[in-house]
Amino acid sequence: MMAEVVKSKHISPNFVRLTLAGLDGLENWGADHWCRLFFTREGQDVLALPTRTSEFGWYLQYLATPKARRPWVRAYTVRNARTDVGEVDMDFVIHGDHDSMGPGAKFALEAKPGDRLGFLDQGSAFTPDHPHDWTLLVGDETALPAIAGICRSLPKTATGVAIIEIPSAADQQEFEAQVGIDIRWIARDESLQSDEKPGELALKALAEATLPNSEVHAHTIGEQALATGARRHLVQERGVPKRNVDFVGYWRYRRAQTS
Ligand SMILES: Cc1cc2nc3c(=O)[nH]c(=O)nc-3n(C[C@H](O)[C@H](O)[C@H](O)COP(=O)(O)OP(=O)(O)OC[C@H]3O[C@@H](n4cnc5c(N)ncnc54)[C@H](O)[C@@H]3O)c2cc1C
Repeated sequence: MMAEVVKSKHISPNFVRLTLAGLDGLENWGADHWCRLFFTREGQDVLALPTRTSEFGWYLQYLATPKARRPWVRAYTVRNARTDVGEVDMDFVIHGDHDSMGPGAKFALEAKPGDRLGFLDQGSAFTPDHPHDWTLLVGDETALPAIAGICRSLPKTATGVAIIEIPSAADQQEFEAQVGIDIRWIARDESLQSDEKPGELALKALAEATLPNSEVHAHTIGEQALATGARRHLVQERGVPKRNVDFVGYWRYRRAQTS
């Protein structure tokens, strides 16, 4: 469906929050509710949105659209959903300089009220479907909205650890979490080395962390090497069963998304 930007705010050095409206029939998927956003490419004056919404249907329709008319598509997490008024807040990481940042970040940086974009709801990926005693969340800045949503959705008695790597200490956000969740922020601008790839400090913090030995549900998200590396560490070094670890690569270092 078509959404309209109604508010744009630079909430911290590397994040812009956009409020999108016009989402009639919006459902709240809770936890890490995510969606695909569609942006016009340069030279396009019409946003050609797929009309099919099923998991593969929209993509087949997208591929059937002549390349010159296809919009950019990127995945983002709903930071707050207000289903009664069809509104969402979305937090966009602003990465790279103007020439290298990619259409998602560029749209967010330049967005003004009245700008339009496509919105396709995709649901939630955080699905702990086995008994566990505690929760482990590991991610980079792109995972911050999802980790905030997951923390908000956990039961009152939940215990766990959330390791969140951010570009700058000033990007730290307050969010609702149960007292039993230990949130550990790691800021790249406070690191003594300057050549770390995003995700490397979070991986190091995970490797060095003292963690409970009991049954865990782990969710590792963000840059591909962080998501897969964290899973590998948990399974190979800590003996966590594979079924207890979900991982999703959100983006790839120095590799733009192709659609
Ligand atoms: C389920 C899901 C939920 C997500 N939720 C969010 C979210 O809420 N907020 C958010 O900001 N992102 C989120 N992401 C990640 C986002 O989709 C990617 O970062 C995406 O590549 C951004 O698109 P772009 O057009 O800005 O850059 P692209 O065109 O994809 O890439 C251009 C260049 O920028 C680099 N790049 C892309 N992202 C980053 C980054 N964060 N830091 C440094 N370099 C980068 C690429 O490696 C490439 O070199 C999510 C991804 C998934 C799969």
